[in-house]
Amino acid sequence: MKILVINTGSSSLKYKLFDMKSNKALAGGIVERIGESQSGISHTVLSNSHENTVYIKKRIADHSQGMHEVAELIVNVKTGVIENIETIDAIGHRVVLGGEKSTSASLINDKVKKAIKENSKLAPLHNPSNLAGIEVAEHIFPGKPNIAVFDTDFHNSMPPETFLYALPYEFYEKYKIRKYGFHGTSHKYVAQKASRLMGKAPGRTNLITLHLGNGCSACAVENGKCVDTSMGMTPLAGLMMGTRPGDFDPAIIGHLLENTDMDKKHLYRMLNKESGLKGICGLNDMRDIHAKARQGDERANLAIKMFSYRIRKQIGAYFAVLGNVDAIVFTAGIGENDHIIRLMACENLSSFGVKIDSKKNKAPSSTPFCIHSELSHVQIWVIQTDEELQIAREAVQVLNTRSKSYEI
Ligand code: ADP
Repeated sequence: MKILVINTGSSSLKYKLFDMKSNKALAGGIVERIGESQSGISHTVLSNSHENTVYIKKRIADHSQGMHEVAELIVNVKTGVIENIETIDAIGHRVVLGGEKSTSASLINDKVKKAIKENSKLAPLHNPSNLAGIEVAEHIFPGKPNIAVFDTDFHNSMPPETFLYALPYEFYEKYKIRKYGFHGTSHKYVAQKASRLMGKAPGRTNLITLHLGNGCSACAVENGKCVDTSMGMTPLAGLMMGTRPGDFDPAIIGHLLENTDMDKKHLYRMLNKESGLKGICGLNDMRDIHAKARQGDERANLAIKMFSYRIRKQIGAYFAVLGNVDAIVFTAGIGENDHIIRLMACENLSSFGVKIDSKKNKAPSSTPFCIHSELSHVQIWVIQTDEELQIAREAVQVLNTRSKSYEI
């Protein structure tokens, strides 16, 4: 069975083609800067022995053209991996916000599309692009089943005392203002993998999962289910991120609007693109920040300290939420690769039974590895996330049951 996974952003289209018999990705890539003059496609053919990447610089006017290019690349004699697009059994789509009720992976029909559209108000930067990707795929792969996998699904198990804000209750009733959480597919993937690696049943495992990429979020997982997460109604909340601030006093917004010439548009830009690591030291890529810190740059050092302090504080909070923690799991670009951040995030946690082994922590690995010392009561794992594989797996489950329907 072959599943094409699509993740459509406002100006990008990421894709990965899986052979589900072997659970392996055959090809993948990204169509970038759609609609701009600098657009192009980075396409990689994967095999057991090697990866072969081609970069095609080409003007891609819209997502429809982008998807046509992808379909052509995966069947092309030179760059392709399948004979024709008929070989694809289904298309799995990442959809960021699934709303409140049943958001398990669903076969896409008009009702599901309507629900995705209705939730666009709550995820204006993501849901409209996700829906555009679905409609383009329906057109380019006619007759093939499309399956939506919702990023918020894993967080749907949060109880009301976790997901509600202490605002007037009618805001929740009228406007659905509540915590939804994001990166759910990643948290779910690494949580299940961690349980397997520890030889425990997922339903009996308590974890703190840390997705640290450009966007960052933490999740408290109790008996395999999410009971709290750091992102909120939008992906601005929680931990400090590349260009987003994470939690801060909301009164600052009113203060800025009243006392500066900032308008709403500027404010949103500042919060989404100019805050976080970038706001503190001018850079948002952690590798560049370390390089600058090594040269003695004070702001870069401060950004690193703030970033890891907030992770540590979140870990402490989730110890209080969970009581008993089997493991802390680091994932995504920074979590998987940055031993300095991992070390700083685990500092001062020995009273919780957390002790990192600095030697193990430094050893790079492309497969999951544990970095706790023998004296640690809590395991610490580094696990490479694979949101696309998780989406492909859930798409297969939907195809196998075909009975799931999206309730709104
Ligand atoms: P996204 O949220 O866009 O998927 P990623 O998960 O790819 O992001 O993470 C991007 C972040 O990971 C960037 O800050 C990048 O600097 C960081 N990163 C990637 N590789 C390394 C590395 N070897 N060391 C430190 N940070 C890294």
